[in-house]
Amino acid sequence: MTPGVRLILLGKQGAGKGTQCVRLSRHYVVPHIATGDMFRAAVKSGTEAGRLVKRYLDAGELVPDVIVMRVVADRLDQDDTKARGFVLDGFPRTVHQAEALAALLSPSDVDVVIDLEVPTGLVLQRLASRRVCSACGANYSLDSPPKFDWTCDVCGGEVVQRGDDTEVAIRRRLKLYEVATAPLVQWYLGRGQLEVVDGVGDADTVMARLVAVVDARRGIRAESP
Ligand code: AMP
Repeated sequence: MTPGVRLILLGKQGAGKGTQCVRLSRHYVVPHIATGDMFRAAVKSGTEAGRLVKRYLDAGELVPDVIVMRVVADRLDQDDTKARGFVLDGFPRTVHQAEALAALLSPSDVDVVIDLEVPTGLVLQRLASRRVCSACGANYSLDSPPKFDWTCDVCGGEVVQRGDDTEVAIRRRLKLYEVATAPLVQWYLGRGQLEVVDGVGDADTVMARLVAVVDARRGIRAESP
């Protein structure tokens, strides 16, 4: 079967990647693979992997590549991703991870890499007001809370502030983004795989921009010999 789509969404923490990746995965009917969600689930379930990664998550530091690549390779090897594709959220985060991903997917590749652009001032505002479901990871904010008393609209879980959405950890993650992740944008640009999408606006508007870009790319790919 031809995969649905293979997408990577890049962007600073708070750019709206999580929200848009959920929508994109529904739109294209492909799994949403969010490494941060996978690590948080491992920490919650108290597995050995969870114990290993907890201190990195708490400090807002990057989990070592050897652990990240093992988790991602296992996930990409499952039937749903092999058959239909994926939306990758929070991975890759370094050029080294991007190279490892390219090797993993070779001789095939991702269809498009999108840089969701939002000014730093706005992401700081969004992160301070961000709230997430502790059970399923659905995103909310102080401006857009769940319908009933911080109980998730999707699964009924408790909606909380993320442990790493503290001011210190947020600053550390944004710094890491600049140092480690921003070079990825250049790396994918050099490979002709990058599209930049304006992430400022309401969720429906941003989603429409994303779908237009992805569909245009798929059209381009379909027409090329
Ligand atoms: P996120 O939910 O994407 O903000 O990720 C939360 C945390 O998980 C990050 O601050 C890192 O500690 C860890 N993490 C998630 N994805 C990666 C990755 N690709 N490489 C290294 N660490 C990651």
